[in-house]
Amino acid sequence: MLTNTAKSSNLALCPQCHKLNDYPAYADKKEKVQCVRCLGKFYQRKPYSLQYTLAWNVAALIAFIPANLYPIMIIYSLGIGDPSTILSGIGQFVDQGLYPIAAIIFTASIIVPLLKIIGLFLLVYRVYTGVRLRPEKHSKFYHALEFLGPWSMLDVFVVTLLVAVVELGFVTSVEAGPAINYFTLTVIFTMIAANSFDPRLLWDKKQNSETFKEENDNR
Ligand SMILES: [Zn+2]
Repeated sequence: MLTNTAKSSNLALCPQCHKLNDYPAYADKKEKVQCVRCLGKFYQRKPYSLQYTLAWNVAALIAFIPANLYPIMIIYSLGIGDPSTILSGIGQFVDQGLYPIAAIIFTASIIVPLLKIIGLFLLVYRVYTGVRLRPEKHSKFYHALEFLGPWSMLDVFVVTLLVAVVELGFVTSVEAGPAINYFTLTVIFTMIAANSFDPRLLWDKKQNSETFKEENDNR
């Protein structure tokens, strides 16, 4: 069964005012349409969506490496600095029996960014190849990833909070390490990557493969 989409009916949705505009069938995909209501210009689909998603996602993955190798915070005790990376910091919280904080940091700084990066790679791969593509399921997955992303910043807030709280003590002080910058970059890059992905491509690809199948069946 063919799914009927706005694109297949030669319509295009204005992202600003959400009006469905006529989009002539002969129009080039790379050409902008002007909305009849708000006069804004827009594309029917985000151009080079998969390429941009892939590029930002690779950048996020690269930034994630120094984010884990460099110390995220340095605890100074009697003037002696003790740097800890994300993973060793989690280990220290576990050693001190602070399991909830360890769990929050592990989820926010390891699981969520990795899930998002791997998930976006998977979506790009599925749309590109059309292998086992289920648009209903995959669009839900995409929106879940989009929702999860900003929660990684929780990790940055925890470090900021620790720096502010422990700074008040005389003997011990905490300084944020260079990894915090790379980690913030990872979060920002994955957010841009998710934003570059056009989930409507899931249905486009599905429809293309169905049209292809029906044409072949009719032969
Ligand atoms: Zn409009």
